Amino acid sequence: MATARQPATAQQPATARPPSVDRLARSLASTGLPHAVLVDVARRAIADGDGADAVPRAQALAQSLVLGLLQPVVNGTGVLLHTNLGRAPFAVRLDARYRTVEFDLTTGKRGDRAGHAGRLLAQLCGAEAALVVNNNAAAVLLMVAALAAGREVLVSRGESIEIGGGFRVPEVMEQSGARLVDVGTTNRTRVDDYARAVTRPGSDVALALRVHPSNYRVEGFTTSVDTAELVAALPHSVPVAYDIGSGLVDAACPWLPDGPPSWLSGEPAARQSLAAGAALVTFSADKLFGGPQAGVIAGRADLVARCACHPLMRAVRPGVVVLAGLQELALAYLRRDVSEIAFWSMATTPVLDLRRRADALAARCPTASSEPMESLPGAGSLPGVTIASYGVGLDGDHLVALRSAAPPIIARVRYGRTLVDLRTVSAADDDHVAATLDALPPAEP
Ligand SMILES: *Cc1c(COP(=O)(O)O)cnc(C)c1O
Repeated sequence: MATARQPATAQQPATARPPSVDRLARSLASTGLPHAVLVDVARRAIADGDGADAVPRAQALAQSLVLGLLQPVVNGTGVLLHTNLGRAPFAVRLDARYRTVEFDLTTGKRGDRAGHAGRLLAQLCGAEAALVVNNNAAAVLLMVAALAAGREVLVSRGESIEIGGGFRVPEVMEQSGARLVDVGTTNRTRVDDYARAVTRPGSDVALALRVHPSNYRVEGFTTSVDTAELVAALPHSVPVAYDIGSGLVDAACPWLPDGPPSWLSGEPAARQSLAAGAALVTFSADKLFGGPQAGVIAGRADLVARCACHPLMRAVRPGVVVLAGLQELALAYLRRDVSEIAFWSMATTPVLDLRRRADALAARCPTASSEPMESLPGAGSLPGVTIASYGVGLDGDHLVALRSAAPPIIARVRYGRTLVDLRTVSAADDDHVAATLDALPPAEP
């Protein structure tokens, strides 16, 4: 019996003519990539070598393009705000309709971009007004530029920090056109240090800026000021702004039925900072607030208005997708509906629930076992804090196989075992995780 012919492409001699670009592109259609993209892939694969391996090269190129697309994944790392996975998990639901971004339905005239999400955020923080920009780095830059360009900003040496990704307080000052005045020392700064900086000869202080050193801790012989003390020690002409970073809007967490979890303790919050006298707070919307990437400036209406009409505002203003998402999220907070806030739902799921899910998963996959784990807040927030959790573990390193599931599952390996922490996995994905774990090939020894 004659053997079936090999596919024309599989074992061609090196001298064979390369396949036609169009045919090669069409053979990759199952990747789902548009034909124009596949034609480009085919051209590159043919140009990059001799005809013999154009097909596998094109397949590899197409595959890497598919993997390079932004796509949803199952986060089994236990890191709640995973910077590489977009920080907070957040649903976007928008149809192709016009929206009242700057339109007032009451008057039929031009409206205010800060009138919807901004107003709700202000209410959440107990602020007179709030402004949304593209991220917190932009919030700090805009605030300092609007309130202190050409003048001085006081910053404690212990808070003159770098947040990951190149956000460095001294460089933000430089970009804003304000002059940084260092106050105190790295480990100890007192209220008097600020007061003396204001009264020293020739001073021109426009703002005192506190910055939450989100991602590190100074321990031992340290002193730092609290907001109320600082406000009391400075003249009214020097407002205190506080970059709280993580976006905890209220330390009392009224949206959580059981109140704030113990691991949050000590994290500065917008409402309490403003109540203590801060004129403005700035924070990220995609850290502990659990929203899309955005930054918020909240506080005194006159100062927020100065930020809003600064020329930089045009360069850092968010679009309708972010504004709509933040509005929905702010409404969920105000309704105290934690089921609509994915980040807080995951962060506060009782360990017992996670354990039950882990037990059920382990029962379905003979190689996996249910075990206690420790989740992390992530995004440089709350360094050193861990949150008790449960998940499943398997012997060996299965990261590559898990990443090739659809949707990909991102896990971690510790001491030669693959761990999937269920705190960051939606219960709706448990079936997918179970089926993927069950189908894993044996781990590499
Ligand atoms: C995270 C953080 C920033 C930067 O915020 P982005 O939203 O990432 O731009 C700035 N300041 C503090 C204190 C932070 O924690």
